[in-house]
Amino acid sequence: MNPPVPPPPQVDAAGVWSESAYAQFIFGGGKCIVKKCRRWTDRFPCSYALRMRVCSEKCETLLYRNYDKTERKIENVYLTSCAIPGKRGLRKIGQAQRMHFRDWLPYDERDMTKYPMYGVSAIGTADNEWFSARNITEKRPERPPVAVLRTRDKLQMEYKLRAEALPRIMNNAMALQKWSDEYAASRKSVDQINLAFIKKVVSTREQIPYRALMRTRIVHDAMESLGRSLSKFDIRSWCGIRAVAIRQYHALPRGRR
Ligand SMILES: [Zn+2]
Repeated sequence: MNPPVPPPPQVDAAGVWSESAYAQFIFGGGKCIVKKCRRWTDRFPCSYALRMRVCSEKCETLLYRNYDKTERKIENVYLTSCAIPGKRGLRKIGQAQRMHFRDWLPYDERDMTKYPMYGVSAIGTADNEWFSARNITEKRPERPPVAVLRTRDKLQMEYKLRAEALPRIMNNAMALQKWSDEYAASRKSVDQINLAFIKKVVSTREQIPYRALMRTRIVHDAMESLGRSLSKFDIRSWCGIRAVAIRQYHALPRGRR
C-alpha cells in the first residue's frame, strides 16, 4: 500500500502484538469509545497509543468534552491530563503510590495537552492490577478484577518490559498518525479518480446517469472497497459488477434514476 503502513512496534511485554493483530487494529474497525454509543465503526483510531476510536463528529465532541485549548488540559470521563482520577476513594491514599503507571502507560500521541493525556479506563485497569498484586503479595482478602493474576514481583518485572516498550509504542503511534493523514489524502484523490471514471466512462458507455449508478448498492460498495484499498476503478471492475448494477439501477424508484 502506498503510503506504506509503519511496522508494528517491538514489544516484549505481555499482550497481543502480532502483525495480524496489528493490521486488524488499524483496518479492522472497532467500537466507538463513547459509552452511550458503542457503535461499530471502520474509521481509523483517533489515538493509536490509547487505542480509541469514535464513529462520528458528534461522538468526537463528546470524547473531547472539557478540553481547554488555551491551558492545554483535559478532564472528563474518557481522558485526563490533570489529575489521577479518584476511583473508590483511592485518591485519599495519596498520589505517591499511584505513580505506578507513569513509566509505562501509553498516553495520547497527539500532543494536545501540557501533561500526558491518559485514558481514564486504562488508569482504572492499571490501578486494579497494582492493588491486586499488592493484595496477593500481602495476603489481603480483596481481589480487584484483573486479566492476569500477578504477585508484586511479577508485576514489577512486567512494568519493566512495558517501560522498555513505551518509547516504541509512542513512536509507532506518531508514525501511524502521519501515515493516516497521508492515507486520507491518497484516499481522497483515488475517490475522485474513481468517480471521474464512473462519470466519463461507465455512465457514457451504459447511457445511465452517473448519480443513479452511484445510488446502486453494488457500485457504492465497490467504490468504497476500492477506495479503502486505494485501488483504481477500471473496466475490469465494472465488468465484474455490471449485471448486478444494471439490475439494481432498474429496481431504483423512478424518482431516483
Ligand atoms: Zn459513536
